[in-house]
Amino acid sequence: MIVKPKVRGFICTTAHAEGCKAEVKSQIEYAKAAAHADNGPKKVLVIGASMGYGLASRIAAAYSFGAATIGVIFDKPAMRSRTATSGWYNTAAFESFAKADGLYAKTINGDAYSKEIKDKTIELIKSDLGKVDCVIYSLAAPRRTTADGTLYSSVLKTVGSPYTNKTINLKDNTVGDITVEPATEEEIEATVKVMGGEDWKDWIDALKAADAIEDNAVTVAYSYIGPQITHPMYADGSIGKAKDHLFETSKKLNESGNVRAYISVNKALVTQSSAAIPIVPLYISILYKVMKENNVHEGCIEQMTRLLNEKLYGKDGVVTDSEGRIRMDDLEMQPEIQEKVNKLWAEINTDNLDTHADLEGYNQDFYKLFGFGIDGVDYEADIDPDVNITSVN
Ligand code: NAD
Repeated sequence: MIVKPKVRGFICTTAHAEGCKAEVKSQIEYAKAAAHADNGPKKVLVIGASMGYGLASRIAAAYSFGAATIGVIFDKPAMRSRTATSGWYNTAAFESFAKADGLYAKTINGDAYSKEIKDKTIELIKSDLGKVDCVIYSLAAPRRTTADGTLYSSVLKTVGSPYTNKTINLKDNTVGDITVEPATEEEIEATVKVMGGEDWKDWIDALKAADAIEDNAVTVAYSYIGPQITHPMYADGSIGKAKDHLFETSKKLNESGNVRAYISVNKALVTQSSAAIPIVPLYISILYKVMKENNVHEGCIEQMTRLLNEKLYGKDGVVTDSEGRIRMDDLEMQPEIQEKVNKLWAEINTDNLDTHADLEGYNQDFYKLFGFGIDGVDYEADIDPDVNITSVN
């Protein structure tokens, strides 16, 4: 099958197995070459391990510390004329590299929110690893079904009043205004159910109850704050309410003892999830330009190796801000970076998009998520889309 990208809205409905493999390999090479802290995690559970920050966390743990990893993913294998999802190909590639390098790596595929998948994962931990010493929670999901069968859908809306600002239409590369409407109380509650900390706590409680987590294990969940221009849409919006809940959950987990729970505030990057947020993709493409020009740009793997090696397991112990959060957005939020972004934001329009934003970098990263546009991959070659994940349960 010759696989080409088919973009529908914010996602690409095809994925390229060889491209995904090449991208995973390049992340592995980065993690291998990065400076390693002396003591790191040894047995790591990554929930949401197939794409973006979760995949990079898994690669960093395995290749910076030789950690055994169990990944929980929610992906689809190839079927008839459809390719697998890129998360499926990423996971298949990661596992095959890890095995060849003598690293334990197994994967559970299914809904991480469900009890069934928690039970399966815990069974695997108990039989193969005994206990985990690090749990990374990196889910980004549009919906969640809770134990009583209720389906909650998250929304990306403001809270209180509508917000109008610039956004980019990636179909025709035009900049125009968008007004984001406020979420209803019910929508905010649903967003907190999906993206807040309830399920993270359920995982930790289930691991504790089954004696499948070491005393004093580390657990980390990811958040975002960003600059003022995105606040009505993000930090102060419906997703921000969920992230506040995630932060409060980290405090509760710490109070309940036995684990050290952290929120890592990560950098804004192109992932399948961030591409869907109004206003944010235009901000990201300006940010890319400024951070690249200042030689401080990072992708998911750079962020996650730095998180593990310097901020979680580094020589200075866990490095947090005054509120106890790990700040991987430190470079993004530097005043000189934000001043430049603000200036470009004020001036940007359809005509000067090329000079004011790194749209090429944004698009490259977007296509890369699905295994396209990667150097050295022959996109005219006939490839077999049917790739197995050897350990998948
Ligand atoms: P992503 O879309 O790249 O990855 C999300 C992962 O979750 C995927 O592997 C997906 O398969 C998995 N997943 C989704 N629903 C699932 C389910 N029901 N069961 C099992 N797995 C499921 O997203 P990302 O951008 O890497 O986001 C991960 C976390 O990082 C989120 O909490 C997000 O808010 C946070 N974050 C993202 C950014 C950013 O700019 N992308 C910045 C800061 C923080």
